[in-house]
Amino acid sequence: MINTKQIIDIAYKEGFVIPAFNIPYLPMVKAVVEAVRDENSFALIQVARPEWMKFESKSLRAVRDEYLNWKDDNHVRLHLDHVPVVDEDYLTVDYISIIKEAIDLGYMSLMVDGSRLPLEENIRSTKEICILAHEAGLPCEAELGAVLGHESGPMPPYDEIFKSGKGFTRVEEASRFVKETGCDWLSVAIGNIHGALSEAAKGQAKPTAKLNINHLKKLNENTGIPLVLHGGSGIEKEYILEAIKNGIAKINVGADIRQAYQNGAAEGGIELGRQLVYEKVRELISDLFEVSGTANRISV
Ligand SMILES: [Zn+2]
Repeated sequence: MINTKQIIDIAYKEGFVIPAFNIPYLPMVKAVVEAVRDENSFALIQVARPEWMKFESKSLRAVRDEYLNWKDDNHVRLHLDHVPVVDEDYLTVDYISIIKEAIDLGYMSLMVDGSRLPLEENIRSTKEICILAHEAGLPCEAELGAVLGHESGPMPPYDEIFKSGKGFTRVEEASRFVKETGCDWLSVAIGNIHGALSEAAKGQAKPTAKLNINHLKKLNENTGIPLVLHGGSGIEKEYILEAIKNGIAKINVGADIRQAYQNGAAEGGIELGRQLVYEKVRELISDLFEVSGTANRISV
């Protein structure tokens, strides 16, 4: 079976994207898998630590079990999203144990997020996890730069972040980071932001985000590895399609499908939640990312 590193490499070389759908509620897994299959597309199913800590996906094991109930090897793989070294509430996390657990449970790729640390410490902790992952035969994603939005405090106005380029992944740091850590994919900050996780802001709509494509081009030229766009909800389509042409091979989708589930579940229970997630995922795949049919380009 073709592994997730090979899958992302194909997308990177051929200029399409593998969406990665986050699972804050377990019933979403079935809906996402069915939508991806019905679009004949290819995607990752992923869970981040805040989703089992602050939402209802319960645990790494629970998500793995739900994945095994519905998975289809021709269309999906299971990925561990953000395991932060320092979390969104600025607490240190026993990230090594979580990552070891995910490897034991059969997660097929993983992410370590040292982006809240100073550069040298981010390099050190990322390198350590990349070694662990590679020993298990898995690719490792890392993050450099500040993809804001998960933090509990108020966020600076979006236009200010974008214009100043504050927190953007720096080109010279990125090329050094990739060489020294051995990471397989790099999550970059180029104007993208995460959906809010704090209690106060959870239900609010995300601000519409823009992307600095010229900056992305430089990052792509200087790293030479598949790049990842976090905060894929709420970015204008023209930016997304340009980003995919310029090195973004994986795009994370959280807020859009989480809100679809929450709205449906509140109105009509789990099945309506699933229905709205199914429709949203199909729409994103066909209309926004334009990746219907990509399963044909990945021979599993
Ligand atoms: Zn993220």
